[in-house]
Amino acid sequence: MVHVIGGGLAGSEAAWQTAELGVDVVVHEMRPVRKTAVHQTDGLAELVCSNSFRGDTLDNAVGLLKEEMRQLGSLVMRAADRARVPAGAALAVDRHAFSRLVTEEVASHRRITVAREEIQRVPGMDSGWSPVIIATGPLTSDALSADIQCIVGAEHLAFYDAISPIVLADSIDMSKVFRASRWDRNVWQAPAGTDAHPPAPGGDYLNCPFTKDEYSAFYDALVAAESATVRDFDAVTFFEGCLPIEVMAHRGRDTLRFGPMKPVGLTDPRTGRYPYAVVQLRQDTLAGDHFSLVGFQTQIKWGDQARVLRMIPGLEHAEFVRFGMVHRNTYICGPKVLAPTWQTRFRDDLFFAGQVSGVEGYVESAASGLLAGRNAAALALGHAPRALPRTTAMGALAHYVSHADPAHYQPSNITHGIMEPLPDAPRDKARRRALIAARALDDLREWMGEAALSGR
Ligand SMILES: Cc1cc2nc3c(=O)[nH]c(=O)nc-3n(C[C@H](O)[C@H](O)[C@H](O)COP(=O)(O)OP(=O)(O)OC[C@H]3O[C@@H](n4cnc5c(N)ncnc54)[C@H](O)[C@@H]3O)c2cc1C
Repeated sequence: MVHVIGGGLAGSEAAWQTAELGVDVVVHEMRPVRKTAVHQTDGLAELVCSNSFRGDTLDNAVGLLKEEMRQLGSLVMRAADRARVPAGAALAVDRHAFSRLVTEEVASHRRITVAREEIQRVPGMDSGWSPVIIATGPLTSDALSADIQCIVGAEHLAFYDAISPIVLADSIDMSKVFRASRWDRNVWQAPAGTDAHPPAPGGDYLNCPFTKDEYSAFYDALVAAESATVRDFDAVTFFEGCLPIEVMAHRGRDTLRFGPMKPVGLTDPRTGRYPYAVVQLRQDTLAGDHFSLVGFQTQIKWGDQARVLRMIPGLEHAEFVRFGMVHRNTYICGPKVLAPTWQTRFRDDLFFAGQVSGVEGYVESAASGLLAGRNAAALALGHAPRALPRTTAMGALAHYVSHADPAHYQPSNITHGIMEPLPDAPRDKARRRALIAARALDDLREWMGEAALSGR
């Protein structure tokens, strides 16, 4: 019997796949016995924020990922297709209908039992639970997080994501900012075989220069601004590498000038000198219509945040596409812990899936659950778990999670950039993407054929 801990997107999909392969499964879901700070219902596969599963055409990577999941009999995709609401080329759903469909299908499957309980420890080898899939998501309960930390190593479990604000390009006062890369180095390089634009003349960044007086006024407003409480956790430990700006500011008047606001290497062409301090803006979308404030993760309340950030020269009339925030995101360092089958490297019968495994997003979470479920079932039936080829979107995601650089690991959405490049890729983007999708679906069919032949 397979035990799936967590009945979110990944856990529900994993349980469904396991059961469909003829293996009994228990889903242990803590809601409503124990709530998270964000979920609102006791339904399985509740969407905690947006109702969008993003693009649904084969010319984008997440659309391809969805198609692969459909081919593999995904419950999440079937429910999403049935709960679909109009959203152009994207797949958006009625979140209540979606969760209800998943909950009904999981709960009524003859091989699935849903136990409403919090699991506080990773079941040990002697627990009699094997295989086990941990799919407890970004809001994994504290007790279980602590135990996961013991098992994978404290340094391999992250707790928070800190997000910088994003502003609309049109709302930046270009007469006040200047384009430059630090020391004139254009750090950004177009990846080979992509259509990414060449660096803009003058440098990759827009720089908002401060005089001493402007910095002083900005600093005073920043330290006086009201911070939001990060949902259910006040005693937040931040990684030194991504401290909120207000936390840095409280360490000293000049700390920011030696951190994200450092001006060295950024000559203002109008003065021929380095400004007193600088906020750098980095292009956030290929179209160049959004810019994010570099290193400006913050948890200042949104009203205060807009007021304080509009004191930055050039951003007086900024329109915010997204405010900065710090949110809970519990995830392991996949490259240190996982194999591309979603098994842990140190214990074959222990799997991680979903956001806690180090993927990002609803569809990616469900996709990882899909393969973890199939592989846990394989193990229960005495077969060897299998990875998908990297030419498929699902295989590429698993490869990224298990092979990315562990030193700077960040959860990722599926993108063409993490898929295996095409040999002799055509220059035409549409043609290239069509070939990538065709190759992925061919390779997936072959993989499924091999699985069927070997009885898996
Ligand atoms: C605030 C916030 C906003 C987000 N917005 C988006 C968005 O707009 N779009 C997007 O694609 N992604 C978003 N995400 C990421 C999103 O959480 C994931 O994409 C998706 O929900 C992950 O699926 P999952 O199955 O891994 O986790 P979940 O869907 O969260 O499922 C995990 C389940 O495990 C249960 N659980 C936790 N601990 C235990 C335990 N110890 N025992 C038993 N059960 C337990 C939880 O109750 C939950 O039901 C957001 C995340 C957060 C935190």
